[in-house]
Amino acid sequence: MSFDYPYECSCGERFSKISSAITCRKCRTYGLGGRHWYVVDLNTDELVHGKFPTDAEVEFWNEAMRREEEELRKELDRMAQESYEQYICELKEEAIAIVEVQEDNLWAVEDKLMGY
Ligand SMILES: [Zn+2]
Repeated sequence: MSFDYPYECSCGERFSKISSAITCRKCRTYGLGGRHWYVVDLNTDELVHGKFPTDAEVEFWNEAMRREEEELRKELDRMAQESYEQYICELKEEAIAIVEVQEDNLWAVEDKLMGY
């Protein structure tokens, strides 16, 4: 079996030319640690560029990615909390404004009843 796109880069994308596989842009997003590692020729199953990551490198980059995701999640939680607190603050200000208007109205009613 022969592949039309035999050059597979480390993120799994396949190319017809090795030069395109070496400069694959998807590796920045989907590659281990956001980088390009290697190119394999699927017709021969040979490594034709770069090197396979070692187990330690895989572990290192997976751990780094896990930490980055955790930081991002914390940041999103913090932003959500801030936005919730801002919302509650605005609701309180609105409630206070309504109460003040009601209070003024009650004073006006009392003044009217007292004959002022
Ligand atoms: Zn790639």
